[in-house]
Amino acid sequence: MKKILFFFSTTFLILLSSCGEEVPANNVEEYCPTGNLADLHLYLGNPSNAEENINMPNNYLLELDEYAVSYNRDKAIPNWVSWYLSSDWYSGDGNRQDDFRQNPFLPSDWYAPDSESYKNTGFDRGHNCPSADRLCSDNFNSATFFMTNMVPQSPFHNQEIWVAWECYLRYLADQDMELYIVMGNYGLGGDGFFGYRTTISDGDNEITIPASIWKVAIAIPKGDDEDLAAITGQSMVIAIDIPNSQAVADYDWDDSSFITTVDEIESKTGYDLFSNLPTSVQSTLESKYHQTDPTYNPCN
Ligand code: MN
Ligand code: MN
Repeated sequence: MKKILFFFSTTFLILLSSCGEEVPANNVEEYCPTGNLADLHLYLGNPSNAEENINMPNNYLLELDEYAVSYNRDKAIPNWVSWYLSSDWYSGDGNRQDDFRQNPFLPSDWYAPDSESYKNTGFDRGHNCPSADRLCSDNFNSATFFMTNMVPQSPFHNQEIWVAWECYLRYLADQDMELYIVMGNYGLGGDGFFGYRTTISDGDNEITIPASIWKVAIAIPKGDDEDLAAITGQSMVIAIDIPNSQAVADYDWDDSSFITTVDEIESKTGYDLFSNLPTSVQSTLESKYHQTDPTYNPCN
C-alpha cells in the first residue's frame, strides 16, 4: 500500500510540475476572446498611420491583444488608443490589477513613464482603454495598466464624468452591441488638484498634460455579418470631447457642450478616424451628433 501511494504521489507531482511549466494556471484565459485579437482593434483604421518604427517616435504603434496605441515619445503619452468592445471582453473571472507600470515593449533607450511618474502632481493616471473594459481575465486587465495607456487627467474629469461615459459604452455592450472605440487628446495644459499646469516633471523628463480629451465610438448590433459591411450611415456613433479640467465635474458626459462630431475631432487632431469605412459612410457618420435619451441614462 505504501509503495502504491508513493507511486501515485510521485506520478501526481511529475504531472503537476510538467503542467506548471507549459501552462501556468494564472495564464489560462478561460473566458477571454481568442484568435487574431490585435487586428480587431485597428479594424476600422489606423487614425494617424502609426508604425512600429523607431524613426517615428511620436507616432509609434504598439499592438497588444487588448488594444492598440499610437505612442508619442516626446509627450510621453498616447496620441490615441483604439479598441474593440463587446461584453465578452469584460465578462469572466478577472479582477482589477492596479499594477501601473512601465511598458516593456517600448525601445529600451526611450524615456517611458512608470508607476511613480504622476505621483503628487495633482493629476490622475487616466486610463484610455478602461480597466473595466478588460475583466475577462487578470492578464487582460493587467495590460490596461501599462503607463502607455495613461494620460494626466484632471481628477474630477477622470473619476466622475469620464467614468460615467465609459459606463455608458459598457451599457451599450450589455445590450448585445459591439463597439469600435478610439480615445485621444489634443492641446496643451489642463487643471489638476493643484491648479493649471502644462507638464508633469519627472526628474529630467516631462510628460505633456493635454488640454482636451476625446473619445469616439461606433456601436452596432452584435451579429454574424462582416462588420465593415454592417456599419452604415445610420449606425450609432457617439463623439465626446471634454476639457481636461476640474470644472467639468458639475456636468454630465452627454451635456450638449461635450457632444461633438467625428469630423470635428478629425479637424482638431489631423487624424482620419474610421478610415477603413467607405468614404460615403464616413461622411454621413462623421457629421452626426449623438442624442441620448434625456429621460434615461443608466450611468449618470
Ligand atoms: Mn471625416
Ligand atoms: Mn474619417
